[in-house]
Amino acid sequence: MSKKKPDLNSLKPETRLIVAGREYAEHGIVNPAVYHASTITFPTVKTLLERDQPYTYGRKGTPTSRALETAIAALEGGHDCKVSSSGLAAVTTTLLAFLKTGEHVLIPDTVYHPVRQLCDSVLKGLGIETTYYDPLIGRGVAGLIRANTKVVYCESPGSQTMEVQDIPAIAEVAHGKNCIMILDNTWAGGFYFNAFAHGCDVSVQAATKYIVGHSDAMLGSTVCNEKTWGQFKQAFETMGQFAGPDDMYLALRGLRTMSVRLERHMQNATAVAEWLRGRSEVESVLYPALSNAPGHAVWKRDFTGASGLFSAVLKPTSEQSVAAMLEGLSLFGMGFSWGGFESLVVPFKPVRTATTWTAPGPCLRFHIGLECPDDLIDDLKQGFERLKKTS
Ligand SMILES: *Cc1c(COP(=O)(O)O)cnc(C)c1O
Repeated sequence: MSKKKPDLNSLKPETRLIVAGREYAEHGIVNPAVYHASTITFPTVKTLLERDQPYTYGRKGTPTSRALETAIAALEGGHDCKVSSSGLAAVTTTLLAFLKTGEHVLIPDTVYHPVRQLCDSVLKGLGIETTYYDPLIGRGVAGLIRANTKVVYCESPGSQTMEVQDIPAIAEVAHGKNCIMILDNTWAGGFYFNAFAHGCDVSVQAATKYIVGHSDAMLGSTVCNEKTWGQFKQAFETMGQFAGPDDMYLALRGLRTMSVRLERHMQNATAVAEWLRGRSEVESVLYPALSNAPGHAVWKRDFTGASGLFSAVLKPTSEQSVAAMLEGLSLFGMGFSWGGFESLVVPFKPVRTATTWTAPGPCLRFHIGLECPDDLIDDLKQGFERLKKTS
């Protein structure tokens, strides 16, 4: 790093991704060291008793974790960040930091399914009540907020079915009722949606997805504004959360190239989604970046780009035909998670309890990677031939 420290606030997001957290590197080396640490020693009894040095214990942070955390905080424009061992761990710790027995949380019906399982088991067991709400409720969320509601949680676009939430409207209502507004910002990578500028207090991400970006490590991040940071940090540290240094290093490495990768994911996903929309086997394509797609207007108003994840609803066909289509693909893997360099596809059946989801045919979720979209389209074209032959 040069001698003069750049002023992050004056820089564009792409530049922030390159420079943030670099002050933790030493000796002129570009990247920070990977510190493997449990014990950190103190030079005197006084410094030990007063914990009077920057690093005091491995779990409390090292230059490696601080480099990643300050870089993610800068990416999202928040006050500070803590990194957890998975995206789900980040969501869990964040909800537990702001909720206690007797309180109530609002969760969108389209939430990432393991978060629903958390609410229905662990939170319920602690006496924390959940109400699932229509993700498109907007200001109508006011009617669901009670005296004991502490958190309004959002995820936009919604998992699998991609509903784009009106975050500014929901945030305004939530703040008017003294609720904490938490967003799962994974789809946009914290890069194409500025959670804090749109009224969120806390932005959570599965860093596993676009920050790591290479399908080889699992991490979560929680970025807070100044108001929520103290409470979150204390709960996070009290619950013993931390992540391994090698994984954090991989995330920091991924983060540096994220703007370039996301741009290509968007370009490729747009090409494949447009092509799918023109196919006779496809009923609809759920990718908010496409004009006329559901959620396009709100996406255009609030987001600066789109990532590589979208869904498609097929016309009615048998499960065997879908299996024949998917199992013969050579470039699309079938598997969970996403955000890596490679394309993926999974069939899905949404679980909804507050709203109803009806689709005429099978649903597929695509993650479009960094391959040439012409090759991906060829692979899918042959897939549709197999689908037709077996239906
Ligand atoms: C994957 C995902 C998570 C969980 O992340 P893990 O790292 O797999 O635990 C949370 N939220 C969303 C929206 C996700 O897609």
